[in-house]
Amino acid sequence: MTDLTSDISNELTADTLPMAFAQLQLSAPLARAVAEMGYESMTPIQAQAIPVVLQGRDVMGAAQTGTGKTAAFALPLLQRMLKHENASTSPARHPVRALVLLPTRELADQVAEQVKLYGKYTNLRSTVVFGGIDMKPQTIELKKGVEVLVATPGRLLDHIEAKNCVLNQVEYVVLDEADRMLDIGFLPDLQRILSYLPKQRTTLLFSATFSPEIKRLASSYLQNPVTIEVARSNATASTVEQHFYSVGDDDKRHALHQILKQRELKQAFVFVNSKLGCARLARSLEREGLKTTALHGDKSQDERLKALESFKKGEVDLLVCTDVAARGLDIKDVPAVFNFDIPFHAEDYVHRIGRTGRAGQSGLAVNFVSKSDARLIADIEKLLKTKIDLEAIEFEEDLPDIRKQGHINDGRRLYKQESDESGRDAYVARAPREPRSDYKPRTRTVAPVDPFFDKPYEPSLPPEAAPPWEAVAARPGVRTISGNIRSKRKVAALFAPV
Ligand code: AMP
Repeated sequence: MTDLTSDISNELTADTLPMAFAQLQLSAPLARAVAEMGYESMTPIQAQAIPVVLQGRDVMGAAQTGTGKTAAFALPLLQRMLKHENASTSPARHPVRALVLLPTRELADQVAEQVKLYGKYTNLRSTVVFGGIDMKPQTIELKKGVEVLVATPGRLLDHIEAKNCVLNQVEYVVLDEADRMLDIGFLPDLQRILSYLPKQRTTLLFSATFSPEIKRLASSYLQNPVTIEVARSNATASTVEQHFYSVGDDDKRHALHQILKQRELKQAFVFVNSKLGCARLARSLEREGLKTTALHGDKSQDERLKALESFKKGEVDLLVCTDVAARGLDIKDVPAVFNFDIPFHAEDYVHRIGRTGRAGQSGLAVNFVSKSDARLIADIEKLLKTKIDLEAIEFEEDLPDIRKQGHINDGRRLYKQESDESGRDAYVARAPREPRSDYKPRTRTVAPVDPFFDKPYEPSLPPEAAPPWEAVAARPGVRTISGNIRSKRKVAALFAPV
């Protein structure tokens, strides 16, 4: 049985961990690409993983999305592969040496774009293959020869079967978002793919959550891995303010409108649990005047990429989506995530709200909890090891004028009844909802705090200093985002001033 307990701290203490990219002595083409991206300091996962991967060790990484994980594996792998770099046009001189597997097309596309940027000044080639689009252009790329192949498992198997790529010279495998790959049922595909690879190789496994299945996968495919953890697994970023509102199904859209307006939110993800629900909600919100697009698994690949692109460009304000968008998509500056439906799997809660509060920025996660969600909330509480307090929501137009201005909460709200004889809706004042037997609603929700996540790098930083990778971001004129991500832009406000 593989030892999963070996820890980086045995080899590299906080004092010896490099913080600046300059300390790594990356080769000139990689250092140039990194400098062009505007990175100066490493993120914690990079500071920990890069030296270990450079040594050729296996890694089991617990890292949240948005932590700089892609560079953490891509840079050292490219560095190690530079010895094979050549300018030959012969495909035989460019065999696949690194294979990066991801669960979704969008993630594969995103990671491949980053790999391309990091390797742009080298002669190492990279490409991406994923399903839902024509195999031909992918085949042409594969046949030319690539050193780094980024793929989703299903489409990769199609290419293997069609003999479009050979994996017998793979030296490095990255299993990214491993928990999600298992969720989607990729285990048999993964096992088949891994059976095509040489036994002697370096394997890097990253996952935001570590279920017993992941640990089993890790123990059978990793050799004496170094375990790296930058945020405790299953943790949510403490930069995300989380609220759980008790709200009936019929009031959710209304609540969404109100919170968008009150918080002056320019853009948000709105997560729902079903494809049908997703399409319906997007249509309703669009009808109600919000610029909305939908992203779910029934859309063609082309439509999915277009939806994402228009959201990234700020052409739409709301991205209504299923969990297909929950993992790893790196869209900068999204201030809020709404869980219109509470996710069926608690792990997805961590991923969904990871779409906001990225790279140290603050974010807002709003959850609409209906009566039937008690079990799902209990699962999230268990996962986060935190008590969740439900809050009551007050609708502005239900309040008497004086309270509308002052937002005084006397715990009462007005409830719409059947229309009266005059044809107008009638409202009745009701006492606050009876506290549910399983919850005690309070007006304050404390976001789960994970001090470990707050202070990933205490030893090397003065206490009051911002982490250096954030300081870089704050400097005007310095690019801090990858080329595949649009830079910060102005987006039209959702609502005109009242
Ligand atoms: P990832 O977790 O790999 O998806 O990265 C999240 C975002 O952080 C991407 O937009 C990266 O371009 C950016 N990023 C990665 N490493 C750094 C760094 N050292 N400094 C600043 N930004 C970074």
